[in-house]
Amino acid sequence: MKLEISYHLENFIGGNLIGPLSGKFIDNINPATAEVYGQIPDSGSKDIEAAVHAAQQAFPAWSVTPVEQRFKILNRIAELIDANLDELALAETNDNGKPLWLSKKVDIPRASANFRFFATGIMHFATESHNMEDKAVNYTLRQPIGIVGCISPWNLPLYLFTWKIAPALAAGNCVLAKPSEVTPVTAFLLSKICKEAGLPDGVLNIIHGTGPGAGEAIVSHPAVKAISFTGSTRAGERIASIAAPKFKKLSLELGGKNPAIIFADCDWEKMLFNTIRSSFANQGEICLCGSRILVEESVYEKFKTDFVNWVKNGLKVGDPLDAESKQGAIVSKTHYEKILHCIEMAKKEGGKILCGGNAVKLEGRCANGYFIQPTVIEGLGPNCKTNQEEIFGPVVTLQSFRNEEEALQLANATQYGLAATIWTNDISKANRVAAKVESGIIWVNCWLLRDLRTPFGGLKNSGVGREGGWEALRFFTEAKNVCIEL
Ligand code: NAD
Repeated sequence: MKLEISYHLENFIGGNLIGPLSGKFIDNINPATAEVYGQIPDSGSKDIEAAVHAAQQAFPAWSVTPVEQRFKILNRIAELIDANLDELALAETNDNGKPLWLSKKVDIPRASANFRFFATGIMHFATESHNMEDKAVNYTLRQPIGIVGCISPWNLPLYLFTWKIAPALAAGNCVLAKPSEVTPVTAFLLSKICKEAGLPDGVLNIIHGTGPGAGEAIVSHPAVKAISFTGSTRAGERIASIAAPKFKKLSLELGGKNPAIIFADCDWEKMLFNTIRSSFANQGEICLCGSRILVEESVYEKFKTDFVNWVKNGLKVGDPLDAESKQGAIVSKTHYEKILHCIEMAKKEGGKILCGGNAVKLEGRCANGYFIQPTVIEGLGPNCKTNQEEIFGPVVTLQSFRNEEEALQLANATQYGLAATIWTNDISKANRVAAKVESGIIWVNCWLLRDLRTPFGGLKNSGVGREGGWEALRFFTEAKNVCIEL
């Protein structure tokens, strides 16, 4: 099967591609060119009602479909994603603005890896049993929940969308899924792949639209029993306020303000290369990017010189279709303006711009696109807005610390707790800091190295619940304990 990229999107409900019942559409804009290049259904509660109906029809058969069969279908979806790598990567880049090489190398391969991982995962998923000596035996029965909602953001569009959908389907649920309205095309193409792979009609329903429109209709529908959400802390709070009083199961993967903690005794070259990546990969639009770089005082000046030099000379901002571009476009005009506003605020707070700080005007095809220079700022204390609020763009701050204790104070001085990176060759120090840093994910001498079996998620205002491996399959099942007296 070869996908034809179409930019006039439709919802995928009950196995059919259909327009929104309201007949309304939203413009889809390519951030690299600022041109409208597609239309997205502006779905609402009636579309969600139709999707719930389709899911209810499909659930009885899908929930008892043998795992070997679910494995085959999910694995086939993975194969079809791989077979359409070029088309999906191009669609993702046009939607999101990220370099095409990055979509090809990371985003799309990871989407098929997600399906493959959970296809095999469900074949090995086991439940516990507890033996009460000669009195009784208990076993845990894990059954699919029913209809679940999966809502994802724009930064890693197909990668994060499939990270939720794959375990939900593998565990035998029927799904209502909504991609971000800012980057919907790969999810639309996935509808066609799922049909081709033989996923029964109504098992996966993909509905397009805004958060307050389609998103809230999914979250508030009484038939949707669990919500897996990735996005901003603000939207997560709103979703929790709707879902929690209805006692729905909730997994919330939210914002971050991640520290990169650099000790003087680290492997300098490796640290520098990876700190460039962790600061600016995907234009800094990865929830796991380190936006607060904390450097031990004795090497602060050396770090500043080496880092700024690399940022100035090694990170070409350019057309996402150009293989030489290291930084593509910011995802939308709104987000571009927000980032520029944050840079202005940093200046008002007394921050010194060491490099970047401005929009980039390209020539040709991308003359009107939303591009920003990678930006490094110093001279700001831990409590200012720039070091407290998530910017989610190519902007990092530098702060220095005197010792381990001060590094931890700075690292933990935000409402967030998603990810942290520690750079040191002292294994004991790495372990001490990892135990005390308030983050759900901690990398020592590496960044973004992911084993899909490990629990993934944040502490504090970065979310609740864990994705990944058995955690995800447990989330998407209801546990019942059966006690049998002997
Ligand atoms: P967002 O919260 O604006 O939107 C995310 C998704 O939620 C979109 O599909 C949107 O339409 C939907 N949505 C928004 N409001 C909603 C509502 N009231 N009800 C239901 N759905 C709603 O986030 P974004 O701007 O798309 O993404 C950027 C944010 O996502 C950043 O804060 C980033 O840190 C976070 N993020 C977190 C992780 C993680 O794993 N923790 C991963 C990626 C991105």
